Amino acid sequence: MKAVVYEEHGALPVVTELREPDCPVDGVVVSVRATGVCRSDWHAWKGHDPVALPHVPGHELAGVVARVGADVHDWSVGDRVTVPFVCGCGRCAWCAAGEAQVCPDQTQPGFTGHGSFAERVALHAADTNLVRLPDAVDFVTAASLGCRFATAFRAVTTHGRIGAGNWLAVHGCGGVGLSAVMIGSALGARVVAIDVSPAALQRASACGAEVVIDANEVDDVAARVRDVTAGGAHVSVDAFGSPDLAVASVRSLRRRGRHVQAGLLLGEASRPPLPMDLVVAHELELYGSHGMPARDYPAMLRLIEEGTLRPGELVGRVIGLDEAGAALATLDQPSAGGMTVIAL
Ligand SMILES: [Zn+2]
Ligand SMILES: [Zn+2]
Repeated sequence: MKAVVYEEHGALPVVTELREPDCPVDGVVVSVRATGVCRSDWHAWKGHDPVALPHVPGHELAGVVARVGADVHDWSVGDRVTVPFVCGCGRCAWCAAGEAQVCPDQTQPGFTGHGSFAERVALHAADTNLVRLPDAVDFVTAASLGCRFATAFRAVTTHGRIGAGNWLAVHGCGGVGLSAVMIGSALGARVVAIDVSPAALQRASACGAEVVIDANEVDDVAARVRDVTAGGAHVSVDAFGSPDLAVASVRSLRRRGRHVQAGLLLGEASRPPLPMDLVVAHELELYGSHGMPARDYPAMLRLIEEGTLRPGELVGRVIGLDEAGAALATLDQPSAGGMTVIAL
């Protein structure tokens, strides 16, 4: 089969002929129809998040089940599926409780093994991890859900418990942030979007932000958010992942507000000096958000089917497998053009 492979960290990934993946006894092999290009793939490629070489990236996939392991009960050849980027083991207490996103023995296609920049990919613990796609959701749209959109959905709904008329502050308007803006406004929240890029803020407005704040133009972003929301946001998300944004997000909240950390904060240098005095005095809630388990997908898919959520609008470019290497290699360049999805 064809796959996009890199031999060394930082070496341009190229389309290569690989042998077919083995089908796990509890898993499936999926024929990939669409797969998103994500900055997490870029981090792995650069060696920030090292992977075994040679490597096939890709963790935001949708496709059709091609082979089924002997221990799989719920899935058959031909089923249209997607999968969260965190796949649970299917055996532990967290997986049994439907919380595969924190499984201690999790696998992540494109990180712990070969990913979906390929004609076929193996997925473990199919009964725990696979998500059935409604016919109305096409493969490119489904591939755009797996990481950024689902992460934002869980951050805003499960953790943020956003309600109609609530203020939602979104710090950082990349893939997760724009998704959070779209989801919040679709659910009736009033959204304040913050970024340093005018192009990103323009997209945030198009996704439904009522107020946009250019962080380069104000001294104290949190004070401005509290100002425009008459006392602070009910829910605030650091959708980028930096100590400064995490602190600003917490300081943006009104009393009893909820901060959700969706952007990754990796390593010692990324530990934000959170104002725990405010957390106590205002009874703030702080949540970490790590993807979304398969169990929670049907609620999100229903909102997409009925047209309330339109993640397809966040897709900027659809490319072929042969363009994937170049697309991955240039992901460090800022782009306000939306997500890139590979279609096969
Ligand atoms: Zn991703
Ligand atoms: Zn598990």
